[in-house]
Amino acid sequence: LSERLSGVFDRLTKQGALSEEDVKTALREVRVALLEADVSLPVARDFVKAIQQKATGQAVTKSITPGQQVVKIVHDALIDTLRGSDDPGALRIDNPPAPILMVGLQGSGKTTTTAKLAKRLKEREGKRVLMASLDVNRPAAMEQLQILGTQIGVDTLPIVKGEDPVTIAKRAKTQAAMGGYDVYILDTAGRLHIDTDLIAQAAAVRDVAKPRETLLVVDGLTGQDAVNVATEFDDKIGVTGVILTRMDGDGRGGAALSMRAVTGKPIRFVGLGEKLDALETFEPERIAGRILGMGDIVSLVEKAQATIEAEQAERMMKRFQKGQFNMNDLRMQLEQMQKMGGMEGVMGMMPGMGKMAKQVQDAGFDDKIITRQIALVQSMTRKERANPALLQASRKKRIAAGAGLEVSELNKLLKMHRQMADMMKKMGKGGMLKQAMKGMF
Ligand code: GDP
Ligand code: MG
Repeated sequence: LSERLSGVFDRLTKQGALSEEDVKTALREVRVALLEADVSLPVARDFVKAIQQKATGQAVTKSITPGQQVVKIVHDALIDTLRGSDDPGALRIDNPPAPILMVGLQGSGKTTTTAKLAKRLKEREGKRVLMASLDVNRPAAMEQLQILGTQIGVDTLPIVKGEDPVTIAKRAKTQAAMGGYDVYILDTAGRLHIDTDLIAQAAAVRDVAKPRETLLVVDGLTGQDAVNVATEFDDKIGVTGVILTRMDGDGRGGAALSMRAVTGKPIRFVGLGEKLDALETFEPERIAGRILGMGDIVSLVEKAQATIEAEQAERMMKRFQKGQFNMNDLRMQLEQMQKMGGMEGVMGMMPGMGKMAKQVQDAGFDDKIITRQIALVQSMTRKERANPALLQASRKKRIAAGAGLEVSELNKLLKMHRQMADMMKKMGKGGMLKQAMKGMF
């Protein structure tokens, strides 16, 4: 389809393509940026490799260097990779009481995040929440959660000294059911490093509680270790989502990319401070910009791309207003229609075109015809497309044959072209064209 760019497009953008060398050079910088942002080495390597293949041969926007273009491609790919779900903040907590299990290393922020999440569910979703600490290892860990609960007005399971985590989990379940809670959050113990005891304990709790969500809490400043932590927890316990804490710090948050790449699980929230309302829904755009640290380049490229699109639309409109609507324009409109869900979809959006859409449809126009019409335009020479008045009988025969269609079909196309050109001219005078074009671009 793009093999033969229409003349208009050609003239307006003068595009070149990214060579393998361009991409390689730019990606060396990108790789350094990713590693500096603490993305783990294997993840950075795989990511860069995937981009190398994807970017080579892509068009370069006018007034942008190849390197800048690659940065933009990387940025978009980062967002794609980071975005795990359209609604990261939405947890599966219907069917009360829904258990949520919090897991992670010691000091990652599990207890704080448990309270933050409880506060959020209570305030934003009106949920009745019960929190329970299963941390029998660290002295005063249970009291810590109890104090946080008092601060945010969320109930905690009464502390019974000497119980093991599985027993506490069972008690939390019973209490949540009897007390009419919507959600109960189990805050587990962590270790400084992953060990078999820790994993065994978390697995035992999981088997009892059967959590609807198992959220892995990870320090966003974690670097190369992030991958090991994520793999281990996901393999042994099964994780449904990730929460990154300490994203208020200086770190560039490369752990986010490592987490997504390794677990494939959505990042749900980010912790942005010690205060209990410092928990926000994960936004891939924001984190992508931070990881790459090349925001200026990205916005430069975006601006250039937007300018070119606007320039293109503007020039096209000016020509339409003068009644210059040739076959290339028609073809672009037809292709646009295909993209936007056919004739009815497009015409419906354009003021004043509704009636015409009906006429065209009554004349037996369906969306398969669009494909055939594009083929007819493709079968014309450059000159013929620019100046449809050239189309006399012999040329018509050649064009129709080239598209494998009848001349009558070409005549229909030409008639439609004339009608549309007239329409454009009339609308141009009334200033309606501008409005209509807004709907198309
Ligand atoms: P746990 O051992 O996993 O339960 O970790 P804690 O919840 O006890 O948190 C350890 C420390 O990290 C505490 O001092 C918290 O205030 C702090 N902390 C937790 N989340 C964040 C965050 O998002 N930003 C910052 N700056 N500090 C945090
Ligand atoms: Mg804790």
